[in-house]
Amino acid sequence: MTSSAFRGSSVLANELDEHCARLAACRRCVLGPGILPIVSTTREPRAILVGQAPGQVERHGGRPFAGRAGRTLFQWLERAGLDEATARRMLYIAAITRCYPGPHPSGRGDRVPSPLERSNCGDWLSAELSIIRPSLIIPVGRLAIDRFFGPVPLSSVVGRVHNVTHSGGCSVAIPLPHPSGASSWANLAANRTLLHRSLDLLRERLAHMEDSSRSVA
Ligand code: SF4
Repeated sequence: MTSSAFRGSSVLANELDEHCARLAACRRCVLGPGILPIVSTTREPRAILVGQAPGQVERHGGRPFAGRAGRTLFQWLERAGLDEATARRMLYIAAITRCYPGPHPSGRGDRVPSPLERSNCGDWLSAELSIIRPSLIIPVGRLAIDRFFGPVPLSSVVGRVHNVTHSGGCSVAIPLPHPSGASSWANLAANRTLLHRSLDLLRERLAHMEDSSRSVA
């Protein structure tokens, strides 16, 4: 399987332009007025990062991970050698659902997207995997990890390198927990160790991808 690193960059950019225009116009789910899909801006992705769903701050569309959870995520990625600007350029940021689902009925945090919304939105991710054919996938959080591994404990997949198959072929996957303050998983010492192991593995993998791209340039 040929990964995005070795395809014509203008072909990939054109396919992503067309895909993102269709995604930005999607209104398949019945959500609140003014709620729009988030859309990744990179046209030269080296990997795909899959989050869960946009938060309140991203409800009108725009860039993914623009709020507090994003600040934590980009701090984590610094440990993997990516500052925010580089991460946004190298990583196509997808999600399980692309529109803000609204507040949680309890008033604490955001509502988890319904199974129907996840099903409605799944085609967008499948299309992106087919277009980009990433060599590396970074699933972030419970819903994204479920998408590739099924309902497994986070501690059994975070901190390890995996191989996953999907609509775009086969990829290495290095999962991360969700950076939202609503998730306490990453605050436990043993889980923190797993998180750091994942970030160190990401650093190694990204460096290997850079070496590979230089050797074919
Ligand atoms: S959540 Fe996904 S499928 Fe639903 S309207 Fe937004 S982009 Fe479309």
